[in-house]
Amino acid sequence: MRPATHALIGGAATAALAPSLGWPASALFGLASVFIDVDHYLDFLYYNGGKSWSLRKAYLFHLRLTCHHHRKDFLVLNVLHTTEAFILILLLALWSGSLWLQAIWAGMIFHYLCDLSMMFRRRILHVRAHSLLEYWIRRRRLAQAGLSPDNPYLDTLKELQAGGNPSLIAQSSPSPRAAALPAKASGHIDSVVV
Ligand SMILES: [Zn+2]
Repeated sequence: MRPATHALIGGAATAALAPSLGWPASALFGLASVFIDVDHYLDFLYYNGGKSWSLRKAYLFHLRLTCHHHRKDFLVLNVLHTTEAFILILLLALWSGSLWLQAIWAGMIFHYLCDLSMMFRRRILHVRAHSLLEYWIRRRRLAQAGLSPDNPYLDTLKELQAGGNPSLIAQSSPSPRAAALPAKASGHIDSVVV
């Protein structure tokens, strides 16, 4: 789901919660429901080797990445969208008794449920690992088949470079073996960023 859509839905939910929750906690709920997607930006930094910090390029990168949804080696890990991250924040919120942390946790869950419903409707639930353990297992299986989930990311960088964004290419790739594997892009950009 695109950031603007999350901002719209999160904003409406924030306004609805404000009378009962108060503005500070509601605002944190709304902010968390949007800024959980910061992990997409971290992906971009990781795969371009820190060469580009541009938010616009990061957004284009993730839009372009959706061209590769159909590939067998397509597997996304967004660390803030994992079961482990949700459990950790929940435990911290319960342990501290902080209403603000609870609001942040609720905002993250709200965002995640919005993502899930969109992915379910588009039948792409499988493209994201929903836990770190799941990612580890699926990455190992892909490796056994000679595939790497790094490949769609690296191919996306190459495509953007071909399209006139040379600064996106990292000098050192995170997985030289993955970089050597072939890419098959459909050339179709989906309307969603998961
Ligand atoms: Zn998301």
